[in-house]
Amino acid sequence: MKISVIGTGYVGLVTGTCLAETGNEVLCVDIDEKKVARMRQGEVPIYEPHLDVLFDRNIEAGRLNFTTSLEEGLTHGDIIFLALPTPEDEDGSADLSYVLNVSEEIGKKIKEYKVIVDKSTVPVGTAEKVQAVIAKNASCEFDVVSNPEFLREGFAVDDFLKPERIVIGSSSERATTLMKKLYNPFVRSGNPILIMDEKSAELTKYAANSFLATKITFMNEIANYCEKVGADVDKVRVGMGTDSRIGKRFLFPGIGYGGSCFPKDVKALQKAGKDENYDFKILDAVIEINDTQKTALIPKITTHFKADLSGKKIAIWGLAFKPETDDIREAPSIYMMNALLEKGAELTVFDPEAMPNIKEKFGDTLTYATSMYEATKGADALVICTEWSIFRTPNYSKLKELLVHPVIFDGRNLYNTEDMKSEGFTYVSIGRKDVN
Ligand code: NAD
Repeated sequence: MKISVIGTGYVGLVTGTCLAETGNEVLCVDIDEKKVARMRQGEVPIYEPHLDVLFDRNIEAGRLNFTTSLEEGLTHGDIIFLALPTPEDEDGSADLSYVLNVSEEIGKKIKEYKVIVDKSTVPVGTAEKVQAVIAKNASCEFDVVSNPEFLREGFAVDDFLKPERIVIGSSSERATTLMKKLYNPFVRSGNPILIMDEKSAELTKYAANSFLATKITFMNEIANYCEKVGADVDKVRVGMGTDSRIGKRFLFPGIGYGGSCFPKDVKALQKAGKDENYDFKILDAVIEINDTQKTALIPKITTHFKADLSGKKIAIWGLAFKPETDDIREAPSIYMMNALLEKGAELTVFDPEAMPNIKEKFGDTLTYATSMYEATKGADALVICTEWSIFRTPNYSKLKELLVHPVIFDGRNLYNTEDMKSEGFTYVSIGRKDVN
């Protein structure tokens, strides 16, 4: 099939590449000329595990191409995916301007039947809006489908190739048939393609992300309470998670959720509720708790240093909002670092993939290390913000030699408290007893 993908970010590039992998002819469109030039030269512009292999293979086979011309994209694809940004607007709602502006152009430019697929995360009613905007100018038939994306950054290729489910919101049989044909190769193991109305599809995405953000936040509250009463959140977590109604996943406490999705999607659902005179009280609490949680280590750090952080050298491990990505959007590390800098600390940072993005944002205010150990050299303490695998089993003796004081503040509970005690560290984590 001939597919166009408008917007070649984390979702669009993975979508385009994986659809090419099943034999489709894919044309990816992006407004960012530099990005398109890099992709044309065979460079993957984001870090996403395993994407490079598929990317190279499909470019070589001539099935994956890139352009800055929307017109070319709209001519090429029978199915046109919109994988455009829907960032947080000033009032918390999803900013639909990218989606609606491109839709306006679609209406003006399409000359034969097309299926327009909204893959961006958008509020209930957006498919209707897109339909209306295109219809204003369109001189041919078209259908609008809502097809929210559930991939996780860091596992995006795997998630796309083997999705747990595909959600298709459409009231058109013609479009649904095409969409099923496109997606059938990805669900051969029997996972479902769920067909529903557009509004339900749109809400499914917000409901899923808000539920996951709530699950994390609930555990963060339990962790904070554990600290008050001397319980160990790791034990509580395992005790809870073995109940199959709860499940083991997404129960790890830490310094809050971040990223390009959860924060904005929870806020967008909260705002969409308000617009209908419905108060999502649970989401109000989730947002408030997460805001505090992002800097949950700060009071612990200031207590340790007796309120004076000026001139203290602090090493930071982990800058991306989660492991296996270079994405720093709404990363808790940013909030942590800003709070530490404000208190006069000097920060030397390390992340396996996110350093260029952080450098762009922080410039000279940080010192950038070339390895995790280099970051700790001469530091008064180490702060861990992201749970990259390489941080999980460090060389403790080396760390103790490099740090001026063997002090670790761990926002992701990477280490066993007993081990840290026997290794001689002062170790402060989330929801567990401090080791002094
Ligand atoms: P992104 O910011 O990484 O990528 C968006 C791309 O669109 C950029 O490359 C940008 O240059 C391009 N763009 C902007 N305006 C354009 C235009 N007029 N024409 C062509 N290209 C244009 O965004 P993303 O993370 O891929 O997210 C896209 C959508 O998917 C959002 O709605 C997001 O909420 C949703 N989503 C994201 C994820 C994720 O993990 N990142 C997962 C599921 C859903």
